Amino acid sequence: MRIIIMGPPGVGKGTEAELLIKHYNIPHISTGNIFRELFETELEIGKIAKSYINRGELVPDDITNEIVRERLNEKDVEKGFLFDGFPRNIDQAKAFDAILKEKNWKLDAVINIEGNEELIIKRLSGRRVCEKCGAIYHITNKKPKVEGICNVCGGKLIQRADDLEDTVRRRLRIYKDQTAPVIGYYLASGTIINVDGTRSIDDTHNDIMKVLGE
Ligand SMILES: [Zn+2]
Repeated sequence: MRIIIMGPPGVGKGTEAELLIKHYNIPHISTGNIFRELFETELEIGKIAKSYINRGELVPDDITNEIVRERLNEKDVEKGFLFDGFPRNIDQAKAFDAILKEKNWKLDAVINIEGNEELIIKRLSGRRVCEKCGAIYHITNKKPKVEGICNVCGGKLIQRADDLEDTVRRRLRIYKDQTAPVIGYYLASGTIINVDGTRSIDDTHNDIMKVLGE
């Protein structure tokens, strides 16, 4: 099974990805984890990629594509893969197609988990985290016994900068701007599967399995 998974921040994409890689026993490949693996080697391309990341810049597409190509030469992807967070623009999607074509491989599906923006904003901006033990709460869905205090360790509950409403709105907008063309690209090739991500993790997973013919 060769899958790409897409979805806005806060839609539960990570959890759905975990369920899929377990079901199919395939590697979970994100550019983040390929970069991390690469940095442990002495390869030149890893040093180049790292220099961009250290400067806080995006790694250019041609370097990212080359790294993906290398990753697809490894043995574990012969049984399939789940790509997550790649491709993030049309140029990367085209390069990915070219790499797959060289290998005579076809994508089985591009799973696009759709969320409701207002629900995502409520879910993320209501999140509170214990600054001591990391336990996660929610101001309406998972309230602590005492407001602002962790049930487990008595630590103070804080809101992470990433979860601030304005930040969440910005992240959602960036995601939309970046991925809309990629979704359009895969729509044209008929590989995209839209899944409703506003329901429970299990319901969304069952929908995905159904459309994958399981
Ligand atoms: Zn705690």
